[in-house]
Amino acid sequence: MKRIYLDYAATTPLHPEVFKVMKPYLLENFGNPATLYSYGQEARQAVESARDKIAGLIHAKSEEIVFTGGGTEANNLAIKGVAQALEKKGNHIITCAIEHHSVLGPCQALEKRGFAVTYLPVDEYGRVSPESVGNAITPKTILISIMHANNEIGTLQPVAEIGRIARQKGIYFHTDAVQTLGHIPVDVDELGADLLSTSAHKIYGPKGVGALYIRECVKLAPLIDGGEQEDRRRAGTENVPGIIGFGRAVELAEVDMSGEAQRLTELRDRLIKDLQATIEDIHLNGHPSARLPGNVNISINYVEGEAVCLNLDLENICAATGSACTTGSIEPSHVVLALGRNRQLAHGSVRFTMGKWTSAVEINRVKKVLPGIVARLRSMSPLYRQDRH
Ligand SMILES: *Cc1c(COP(=O)(O)O)cnc(C)c1O
Repeated sequence: MKRIYLDYAATTPLHPEVFKVMKPYLLENFGNPATLYSYGQEARQAVESARDKIAGLIHAKSEEIVFTGGGTEANNLAIKGVAQALEKKGNHIITCAIEHHSVLGPCQALEKRGFAVTYLPVDEYGRVSPESVGNAITPKTILISIMHANNEIGTLQPVAEIGRIARQKGIYFHTDAVQTLGHIPVDVDELGADLLSTSAHKIYGPKGVGALYIRECVKLAPLIDGGEQEDRRRAGTENVPGIIGFGRAVELAEVDMSGEAQRLTELRDRLIKDLQATIEDIHLNGHPSARLPGNVNISINYVEGEAVCLNLDLENICAATGSACTTGSIEPSHVVLALGRNRQLAHGSVRFTMGKWTSAVEINRVKKVLPGIVARLRSMSPLYRQDRH
């Protein structure tokens, strides 16, 4: 039985074309881009060419791109970097309840250092209201960080409106665009972003490399001290093959972004509709239309998301749940809880995320096996039987 991979939001496979351009930089062209001889300079040029590609995709200047060790580091650099640089100006940060842990983590760490953080609530679809952002601003606010799209439920945030409010008030605006770069248009000016985080392995590039866009005027302290790489904003020898792979992944994503988004949106909407027709008492998490093209997240009442995922795994289908499964914790997803779902529904959340190699045949297989799995699990649930009688 062939494996059906439906966890593209967790990571994507490396595109063979990406591997092809990386390979020579792992083997023959291993030079250090900081060296003067032509051999090292070749690596330098390849890194700069990748930087140009990433800047081009988001309509930034090349000097505004800093390579990092992934999306997590980009988010840490944005939040802690601004906090440290503007410490004298203010100590208040605004973010929201459903951010990725790599945004919530740095915010919590800053709270221990005396910063105040407002975690804005979201509506039933996972949207932050721009008004609530405006109302949360104080004279001490130095940074607003709201993600472009949520990795669990796929909801797109009204980022451009939030960016406008931040601009009016002269406050830096950061957005985590890890889930949107290369999937839907990301333009730093349209979004009003002063800082924007990206990661290669969510767009068919390698793991462990990302980039932070930092608008020219933005003051930011580095997280890592050492050499002068990345314009003194991120010390350490560059991950040359990774960066080159990231550049190629961006180039490939640009080729058919709107066609692919449309194809995945159709697959997504058909899967949602068919599951709602064949399984009773399931609830779509996230916004029905303002959501990532390849994201389906449902809460299935009376079952554990973890049990569903393990049963899907027996059918060789890889899906995710917001609770236990991946983390080993028994806490349900902070994202699904923030939508106002009760704990039972939060525990019953299952996420399917599709990508480049997802076919209608694979989606049909999910539609075929999932109702049976749910029925079997429910038949073992005392709560389900009790409520039915
Ligand atoms: C995957 C992800 C990250 C973390 O990126 P890494 O490169 O895995 O560190 C951050 N934010 C969002 C929204 C993500 O989906």
